[in-house]
Amino acid sequence: MKAVVWQGTNKIGVETVPDPSILLATDAVVRVTSTAICGSDLHLLDGYIPSMEKGDILGHEFMGEVVEVGKAVKKLKVGDRVVVPFNLACGVCDPCQRGLFSACDNSNPNHRMAEAMYGGVSGGGLFGYSHIYGGYAGGQAQYVRVPFADVGPFKIESDLRDDQVLFLTDIFPTGYQAAENCNIVPGRDVVAVFGAGPVGQFAARSAQMLGAAHVIVIDRVPERLKMAEASGAQTINYEQEDVLLALREATGGRGPDHVIDAVGLEAHGHGPGALLDTAQQKLRLTFDRITALRWAIMSCAKGGTVSMPGVYGGLVNELPMGAAFAKGLTFRMGQTHTHRYLPELLGRIESGEIDPSFVITHRAGLSEAPDLYKAFRDKKHGCIKVVLNPWA
Ligand SMILES: [Zn+2]
Ligand SMILES: [Zn+2]
Repeated sequence: MKAVVWQGTNKIGVETVPDPSILLATDAVVRVTSTAICGSDLHLLDGYIPSMEKGDILGHEFMGEVVEVGKAVKKLKVGDRVVVPFNLACGVCDPCQRGLFSACDNSNPNHRMAEAMYGGVSGGGLFGYSHIYGGYAGGQAQYVRVPFADVGPFKIESDLRDDQVLFLTDIFPTGYQAAENCNIVPGRDVVAVFGAGPVGQFAARSAQMLGAAHVIVIDRVPERLKMAEASGAQTINYEQEDVLLALREATGGRGPDHVIDAVGLEAHGHGPGALLDTAQQKLRLTFDRITALRWAIMSCAKGGTVSMPGVYGGLVNELPMGAAFAKGLTFRMGQTHTHRYLPELLGRIESGEIDPSFVITHRAGLSEAPDLYKAFRDKKHGCIKVVLNPWA
């Protein structure tokens, strides 16, 4: 089969590789009909996530048709159309039982690698996302092996198009969880979202669905800000305005009640902190560039929430903890408990409350993936979200 593979830092290729097969009785094999490139895939491209190996198949946002099931699989059958959460969960461990699917104790066989790196804890495994997250082959391919087939894959029985349900695999639930974590008081709270990439777009729309009185989206890329404006959000271009001042002015001086950092560890931005991050990151003195998080803490109203769907990897410097403490902020973060949100969010799509396909700017076959990874990374050609058809 054909698959998009990691060939080294900043090197993505399309190769012919062996078809996947059932390895455990609880596996399924899915023929992929649509798959997407995610902002977090760019951290692999850039080499910020360690333990990638040449030939690793990328991709954690995919859906398709079940073509084979293991002997122990009960809920799925050949022919079922499914979306597959980007994270793997066993369904039976303590975190899974509590709905904390992304914290699954059993789905990352390489948890010791992650624990050594992150100081003693590992989340669950992820599709197509390095060996510290389990070394699972990803879904930017014609076929993919799906472990825990009775737990993850979620059947789509309506006639919604792939475009409308594909993002249930990650970015829609990720944006939604980020907004839900803010405990928005409907009709009162103002929510600011740093980053108008795909997750930021869904976070902004989710904040609106959850009743935010006003939503403000911050970025520097005009077409991304335009897409956010289309939802009714106010936007701030941080290259044209003093973002902290603009947020105060937009909220009568108190700051947004909740701030979502949908940027993560490769923030751009400016100011002394940003320069220090970049220099220290080059010298490997810090792992993450945290401008967005710093602005989130500094702008957030007293008693507010800083919600972080953006990915962080290691230690950070120059975090304004004193400001966070003085204001009594609540921090919420982590990988998305995708499985938990699928029924509710599918319902919102089916009812017409949201059509997630608004975010798609590029459609292509697998062969164009290497160029589109770069266009997405460099924010060229208006690229916001790429969907690949492995059979085109
Ligand atoms: Zn993703
Ligand atoms: Zn589990």
